Amino acid sequence: MNPLEIRKDFPIFQEIINGHPLVYLDSAATSQKPRQVLEVLQRYYERENSNVHRGVHTLGTRATEAYENAREKVARFIHAPSANQVVFTRGTTESINMIAYGYARLKLKQGDEIVLPPSEHHSNLIPWQQVARATGARLKYLPLQGDGTIRLEDVEAAVTSDTKIVAIAHVSNVLGTINPVRDIADIAHRNGSIIVVDGAQSVPHMPVDVQELDCDFLAFSGHKMLGPTGVGVLYGKKSLLEEMEPTYFGGEMIDVVELHESTWKEAPWKFEGGTPIIAGAIGLGAAIDYLNRIGMAEIAEHDAHLAALAVDRLSKMDGISVYGPAAGQPRSGLVTFNLDGVHPHDVATVLDSVGVAVRAGHHCAQPLMRLLGVGSTARASFYLYNTEDDVEALAQALEQAKEFFGYAIG
Ligand code: PMP
Repeated sequence: MNPLEIRKDFPIFQEIINGHPLVYLDSAATSQKPRQVLEVLQRYYERENSNVHRGVHTLGTRATEAYENAREKVARFIHAPSANQVVFTRGTTESINMIAYGYARLKLKQGDEIVLPPSEHHSNLIPWQQVARATGARLKYLPLQGDGTIRLEDVEAAVTSDTKIVAIAHVSNVLGTINPVRDIADIAHRNGSIIVVDGAQSVPHMPVDVQELDCDFLAFSGHKMLGPTGVGVLYGKKSLLEEMEPTYFGGEMIDVVELHESTWKEAPWKFEGGTPIIAGAIGLGAAIDYLNRIGMAEIAEHDAHLAALAVDRLSKMDGISVYGPAAGQPRSGLVTFNLDGVHPHDVATVLDSVGVAVRAGHHCAQPLMRLLGVGSTARASFYLYNTEDDVEALAQALEQAKEFFGYAIG
């Protein structure tokens, strides 16, 4: 793959930011969009726009076919056994909340356990706190190693026959650690628990096969994988989706409505109450076509290579602390760091003044920040359109930031 060619597909790289070409290192927050996705969205609204599953007219059929075709693309992308196991949602957050409301709140009871690491994104943590509050179940946190990794023996020790849900990110959005989901799934299943996997940072960046992972649920967001905002996915095993209740009730999701009771369609449609996210799903389908054309294995290698380069470059700079897996250890395409003694918002502001966009803050992982002993960090995250020059631009901008704050402090 050639990131210089890929960049030509992304109109945003023509933007000049504060007098500098854009160096976009915030794809873990949201990715940029190629014109192939933008054009599909435009074409949809210009030539196919209609509501789905309702009209018998030609446009209604076109829109329905395009929408259901997008579901097939998602299913193939994550190797789901059937497209009926793919529910379109607003994103990872909504997908996890739907599991919490439609499954966990109905199934769990006093004394049950939900096992998770303290490094989870708030969207894979707060829904479980809420389930625990509503049902009397208990949250049980896995110990983290200093580099953010999880030891399987700790998972073995934590998961018991009382465990009903193990919730874990495939890839940490803060540390870039890649969790051994298949091994953890095996431990969960041996104890009669299900496993909910937050794939927000893995599905966009590496090949993901739900059957190989043997995960019971997988949640991810379209906007982090070249798709539009407002669309995401909830994958579930067939029997679980059958057991799970809808979260939203109204049009589209029903079978028969009586005055006092109603019945639902089958999954996935029973979870898609109201007019679904039609354009979003079609845009996500186009994004998947784009990613497939490049190849997920190539993308994974490219992103990890840039992150490793950044870890190496930043670790050699005085005054920079790098968090997460040590150099040479598996890490996805992101690196989290701090300039000692300087608030990451200030670092990010100086980087922005030379066109370098990084994320600064607690990354929706406050408990992890506490474990790391910091309030917040800066994070550079890479994707298929980034180059080695972008890593160098980051390092040089950090040198400038050091100089700037050195003067300011001195
Ligand atoms: N989980 C992880 C690991 C994430 O990185 C994110 C996005 N920052 C989310 C969940 C939430 O995704 P969304 O905001 O698209 O619902």
